[in-house]
Amino acid sequence: MSNQFRSVREAPAEGKRVLVRADLNVPLSDGEITDDTRIKAALPTVQLLIKQDAKVVLVSHLGRPESRDELSMRPVRDRLSRLLSVPVTLAAGVAGSDVAADVEALEPGQVLLLENSRWEEGESRNDPDLAAALAELADLYVNDAFGAAHRAHATTEGVAHLLPAYAGLLLERELSELGSLRDDPERPLVVVLGGAKVSDKVGVMRRFLDIADKVLVGGAMCFSFFRARGVGTGDSLVEEEGIDLAEAVLEAAERSQCELMLPTDLVIADSFDAQAERKEIDGIEVPDGWMGLDIGPATTKRYAKTIADAGSVLWNGPMGAFEMEPFATGTRGVAEAVAAASGRTVVGGGDSAAALVAFGLDREVDWLSTGGGASLEFLEGKDLPGVAALDAVEKEADG
Ligand code: ADP
Ligand code: MG
Repeated sequence: MSNQFRSVREAPAEGKRVLVRADLNVPLSDGEITDDTRIKAALPTVQLLIKQDAKVVLVSHLGRPESRDELSMRPVRDRLSRLLSVPVTLAAGVAGSDVAADVEALEPGQVLLLENSRWEEGESRNDPDLAAALAELADLYVNDAFGAAHRAHATTEGVAHLLPAYAGLLLERELSELGSLRDDPERPLVVVLGGAKVSDKVGVMRRFLDIADKVLVGGAMCFSFFRARGVGTGDSLVEEEGIDLAEAVLEAAERSQCELMLPTDLVIADSFDAQAERKEIDGIEVPDGWMGLDIGPATTKRYAKTIADAGSVLWNGPMGAFEMEPFATGTRGVAEAVAAASGRTVVGGGDSAAALVAFGLDREVDWLSTGGGASLEFLEGKDLPGVAALDAVEKEADG
């Protein structure tokens, strides 16, 4: 699984110009980086290439700029340089003659960061001219941007066809961790899904009804399931288009060997507010004027026990509105159970990761995936364009 694609570890990088697509799309507030996890996750591949005396040309997107006056990579350059303890040059743009001159000036072991790839409108539409211009800048290509691999963009897909293309260390690790969970898990395999919307997770849910032993559902998305069963949900957040999807999942669960577990008790409140009146109800019928904001204590206990008994666990999506302390209990209970589990534990999803960090438990899981949408699509069994475009190991034997 992990060895399906040629690895950066085997790339003949010495003295070569290596274009590395990383996911350096960090959250910013007033131009300051508020969380540098993604930059840190990108370091090992860059460090490996520096050690091999490559000329490293890094590229990433950052947010959704509307023009070249917005979202320069400058703050990312500064942080990257500090974390690497080497100077990192910021390029004059994404591609073109000025950037080619910046690359020309690189010595082996030096790093150049290209500007925000979304400054080029060709990036998102995978423009062949932009891909060709990027390919001009390098001898080899490495994709380490697992979090962007579900998008066929010029820096993630187009350019991969034009250069010898290798998998970066982070991307490789993601594929092997998620791949072994999906394709060869220790049993019982327990999948815990939560979060806001059924439609985000329905693909993964359907897939794991076929391969998991238990699927546990929490978060606002359980209200689509309750509505599909005709249960009143009061003022709870309900994704209307999720109701039909939930109904289909319930039908599929009937036919499957996998057990689909839904909450049996809830925490409700009279408004979406940390100061709201809060009640625990034994049951799932939410009265009018109230909304369900967390799974209840009995459900939390049952889910925690199921997680403790698992051979492997996949968790994606919080159990409630955990950002507000009165409604964090279910998510914390699941997080603590995942942290303490003896089975292999993998967590994906931006908000689930944020919850683990908030509880101080992020180091207690075996793998915290950096790719939200990409990890879901991969687990569903979809081909990720940014991965499919890499050179397969077999090619070497052919060529
Ligand atoms: P992830 O990023 O881990 O995939 P999602 O983005 O799908 O998770 O969902 C996370 C969001 O869902 C959180 O902001 C959380 O507050 C919200 N949420 C979960 N349960 C509820 C609920 N019962 N009512 C309202 N919001 C909820
Ligand atoms: Mg989210």
